[in-house]
Amino acid sequence: MSGFDKSRYFDHAATTPLDPRVKEAMLPWLDEGFGNANSIHAWGRAARQAVETAREQVAELIGADDPSQVLFTSGATESNNWVLCGAVLDCAKVSPFEHVSVRDTVEAWCKDPYMANEGWSVVPRKTKLASVMAVCNETGAVITHPMCGGMNHSDATQALGKVPWSVDKLDFASFSSHKLYGPKGVGGLFLRDPDSIKPFLRGGGQELHLRGGTLNVAGIVGFGAAAAIARQEMDADRDHALHLRKAVIEENPDARVNDAPEQSPFVLSMTFPGLTGESLVVEADANGFALSAGPACSSGKAKPSSVLMAAGLTADEAMSTVRISFGRTNTLDAARQLGEVLRLSAQSLALLG
Ligand code: PMP
Repeated sequence: MSGFDKSRYFDHAATTPLDPRVKEAMLPWLDEGFGNANSIHAWGRAARQAVETAREQVAELIGADDPSQVLFTSGATESNNWVLCGAVLDCAKVSPFEHVSVRDTVEAWCKDPYMANEGWSVVPRKTKLASVMAVCNETGAVITHPMCGGMNHSDATQALGKVPWSVDKLDFASFSSHKLYGPKGVGGLFLRDPDSIKPFLRGGGQELHLRGGTLNVAGIVGFGAAAAIARQEMDADRDHALHLRKAVIEENPDARVNDAPEQSPFVLSMTFPGLTGESLVVEADANGFALSAGPACSSGKAKPSSVLMAAGLTADEAMSTVRISFGRTNTLDAARQLGEVLRLSAQSLALLG
């Protein structure tokens, strides 16, 4: 694949490119460091040491008291499913902003899901759990976790390495490496108390006997390296994102910016009344830019995002919304050009009616 210009990729909330430094850290573990981290010979011991270093790097980024509280998974989808299915609990309160991997799991586990007054779905079981994401992937809203008296879970996928966030007071947290310039297919679960959750994958006793399966050493090393870099560069990354989003907003005075009172600078949700978000995404794509609109339902027919509507947009506004998400490889020049492409596309699409 060639000809893709990373400076024009504005879909970092979907995934980020692998940081070259992360790739460098991973390479030895795809080559001579191929050992199984559970083997007792030298190959195995070297792999184990690399995994434990990565565990420390992730633990430092999330502010865990002890690296053993970080378990490696295939990503936030798995971690969310694990908590919702495996936590020893009877009642889960889930915000309407949650990612589908939380919402769908709750609905699947609840024979009779119903919406409580505030629009939060509730699964009747035994011990209470509140599951509230740290940053909304569709709007970038930073959400304060309303601590419940029981256990608390946060899907921190869009917060990790991007906004000040820690596992302080939480029992569980989910995250994915590929949202912070690490490899795909690896992530983590913060687990304060190993007795508060049932095993997810039974097998070889890996990850405290709670998540069996041979460890993805290269992926885990990459996640660790990405976490260490994010810790160092979070302030610079945030400043960069603030400049980029300002440039796009300035080019589009007629669009509505759906910022929350507390907002991640990495996500910009913009509504262009009277147009479909999808048509703008297509126009931007034709100009070499990547961004996204709301999710489409399984039939392929566009449907307004329930998350945007929970955030206060009407169905029409939700359909007219695009998500632009910023990252390290974007340039100010590319952000200005994207802003201009959006403005000109919106004008010509409006004329076409
Ligand atoms: N939660 C949130 C908030 C996300 O943005 C995503 C990725 N879009 C996920 C969970 C799932 O992450 P993954 O696909 O890496 O499992």
